[in-house]
Amino acid sequence: MTNDAWGRVREQLITQIGRNNYTTWIEPIRLATLEEEVARFEVPTSFFGDWVSRNFAEHILHHLKQGGNAVARVEFFVPARPMTAANDAPRKAPAPRALRARAVADEDLPGATLDARFTFDSFVVGKPNELAHAAARRVAEGGPVTFNPLFLYGGVGLGKTHLMHAIAHELQAQQPQLRVLYLSAEQFMYRFVQALRDKQIMDFKELFRSVDVLMVDDVQFIAGKDSTQEEFFHTFNALIDQNKQIVISADRAPGEIKDLEDRIKSRLQCGLVVDLHPTDYELRLGILQQKVEFYRSQYKGLQLAPGVLEFLAHRITTNVRVLEGALTRLFAFASLVGREISLELTQDCLADILRASDRKLTIEEIQRKVAEHYNIRLSDMIGPKRLRNIARPRQVAMYLAKQLTPRSLPEIGRRFGGRDHTTIMHGVRKIEELMATDSQLTDDLQLLRRLLQG
Ligand code: ADP
Ligand code: MG
Repeated sequence: MTNDAWGRVREQLITQIGRNNYTTWIEPIRLATLEEEVARFEVPTSFFGDWVSRNFAEHILHHLKQGGNAVARVEFFVPARPMTAANDAPRKAPAPRALRARAVADEDLPGATLDARFTFDSFVVGKPNELAHAAARRVAEGGPVTFNPLFLYGGVGLGKTHLMHAIAHELQAQQPQLRVLYLSAEQFMYRFVQALRDKQIMDFKELFRSVDVLMVDDVQFIAGKDSTQEEFFHTFNALIDQNKQIVISADRAPGEIKDLEDRIKSRLQCGLVVDLHPTDYELRLGILQQKVEFYRSQYKGLQLAPGVLEFLAHRITTNVRVLEGALTRLFAFASLVGREISLELTQDCLADILRASDRKLTIEEIQRKVAEHYNIRLSDMIGPKRLRNIARPRQVAMYLAKQLTPRSLPEIGRRFGGRDHTTIMHGVRKIEELMATDSQLTDDLQLLRRLLQG
């Protein structure tokens, strides 16, 4: 009777929490008793039970109730004889320990659950992320491990977490037998500290060493946290030795993470290190076009004026999360006031976001970047030399200053060593002229613009 009830609940749980979570966390547990409104589940380790309790107890309870069972509480306990033994060493069987079910909303550290929207299908590929995407795809094929770990890094909101979840979804769909564990470095630390406190460190080790694919998000978090680093290092090595795939993300390259032990840095560099570059205009537009399809279906009949997406892609250059937030607000607002999404409405509704995104690019920054790019001295930018190999970069800088800042020609002239505004105008025109025929120059400008605005 209990098993029937549980069987149905399990089926419902697959759809609710996803196959990945289901295989990792639900399949190994067993409903032992359902008495006096308490459903008691056997779990392999207390760490395991705690995790299930924190993350899925609420779902389990809900579905048990839905199935018409008289149940008010779920509990998890480790049976007197452990279901799995970590090693041969004699060890005291832990006493059954009930873990109080906590609501998911109480979860101190959410994030271990995969976001159903973060799939490969919904990931827009462009120049800035094509390598990272290709590497993620390769890992998601689940074939023989060719590089280990895969280390993804890049600034905030550029799609690291999205790609990791996409890998997990794909693996789970294609190879459901694999145990895929995704968590943030923060959760890793939290679990570790908890295991230390509860003297469950063997269980902790066992759990992390028993997965087929381990993904740790935002690993920069463990920098400076010595014992967590140490444990991470051992987990990492154990899995690599077993040829299990590891995927790591961070906000910067391994070598640039401060307070991370050198041996960890070098281990992280052993596999494939790929970065997600800041978005470019084309990618942003692509992402907006994709997201807008969703909003169109949500808010039927809402009109979107031409040019609005282009405007947003041009103006909001910070990151994709901000871009998404802007779109959400825009559609909600327009449907509320029942008006077409025009350029004016966009500017009104998003004034604060647009202002914050307005990176104040200075003429000095432009001069510095251009000088760097053409390998000339910054002082030559403003100096009097007329040699072609100095005059041309100077004109490029003038052109970019006119294009990318709101400064007037006389103001720009002043910043170029007190040149007259007509000299600046001449420089700008010269570059415009050359662009028509000189593809190298066009490439240079594109690159510089990306560097300056990224
Ligand atoms: P990160 O982990 O690098 O900080 P996320 O993966 O959380 O960034 O991405 C932030 C948001 O932007 C998410 O909603 C994600 O779906 C979206 N996003 C980022 N890059 C892309 C992309 N290339 N295509 C579609 N959505 C993206
Ligand atoms: Mg992230």
